Amino acid sequence: MRIKLEKITRNYGEIPALRGISLEVNDGEIMTVLGPSGCGKTTMLRIIAGLLEPDSGRIFFGERDVTALPPEKRRVGMVFQNYALFPHMDISENIGFGLRMRGSDKGHIRKRVEEALSLVGLDGYEKRMPSELSGGEQQRVALARAIAPEPDILLLDEPLSALDAGLRISLRHDIRSIQRELGITTIYVTHDRDEAMDISDRIAVLNRGRLEQEGEPEEIYRRPVNPFVARFLGDANLINVNVTNGTARTPFGNFRGDFEGRGYLFFRPGDCTISDDGMDEGIEVEVISSRIRSGLLEITVKYGEERIKLHEKESLARKYDIRPGKRIKVRIDTDAIILLKP
Ligand code: ATP
Repeated sequence: MRIKLEKITRNYGEIPALRGISLEVNDGEIMTVLGPSGCGKTTMLRIIAGLLEPDSGRIFFGERDVTALPPEKRRVGMVFQNYALFPHMDISENIGFGLRMRGSDKGHIRKRVEEALSLVGLDGYEKRMPSELSGGEQQRVALARAIAPEPDILLLDEPLSALDAGLRISLRHDIRSIQRELGITTIYVTHDRDEAMDISDRIAVLNRGRLEQEGEPEEIYRRPVNPFVARFLGDANLINVNVTNGTARTPFGNFRGDFEGRGYLFFRPGDCTISDDGMDEGIEVEVISSRIRSGLLEITVKYGEERIKLHEKESLARKYDIRPGKRIKVRIDTDAIILLKP
């Protein structure tokens, strides 16, 4: 089922939460809505679920305009941050809840509960109570409950944020494979860029109620359209430059832009390498600091008034005797550099 949002706006009193969001989610795809706290992610999800009305704009599921349709008629499954299982019902009652509300017969409910539990890897958990489950298991049950009534659309609002780091990673892989297996159109809300990079077919970056950019994870990471997206998706180098007559003339080369005045050269730390001794290529910089993180050498260097971050193989720390104050030469992959408007 395709989802289409057309110029959705929503204010809370004076506070604009969404300012004209237009977005399409393709059939069977998992789209992540990524953005900082307060950018409007939850508001957007609640509007799609029908739990909240937009002030203006329209929502389509496939060809059908569902803007005025109540939530129970939208065939949407939802999973929230805080498990939200019914504490006094056992697991099978929790998962069968939506089907009972719909008046499905007992045999069908039992079959669907069993299938959903099996899909989330919790076969045989029917008679347990929510309080007897770990956080990760509870969130699996919440997912089973959302998919048991066979919704057309799955909405997940930061479903893993209450779990510890290791569990978050393994559960997001499970969510991804379950989503694939069902082929269900899914919107996944998070403020965690690694999660977004890992789980999504496409990412929509939201900031202060506006859609900044949408695209495949790698495209957004490599070719952000502005400094906000550049920084939000990962470590970013943003070097101040001036654009005159449509060109920024810099020590790294000349870059064409469709604007005038102040701008930034953007590249990732991985686009920067230490030049080998004896080679003339590259710019001379001074090491400010270095550290090893996840097996990578992260170096911050000073170039004029600018700071540049680079990531290198950890073994190079010894080879080049990297320490604060040391002068080294670095090279930047010019193909990776893009000129951004402030
Ligand atoms: P988080 O990641 O912190 O959950 P979010 O991106 O989901 O944030 P929303 O919950 O959609 O953001 O909120 C968007 C904006 O609307 C915020 O500025 C928030 O303070 C405001 N807001 C949300 N709900 C209400 C409400 N019921 N009344 C007034 N303002 C609200």
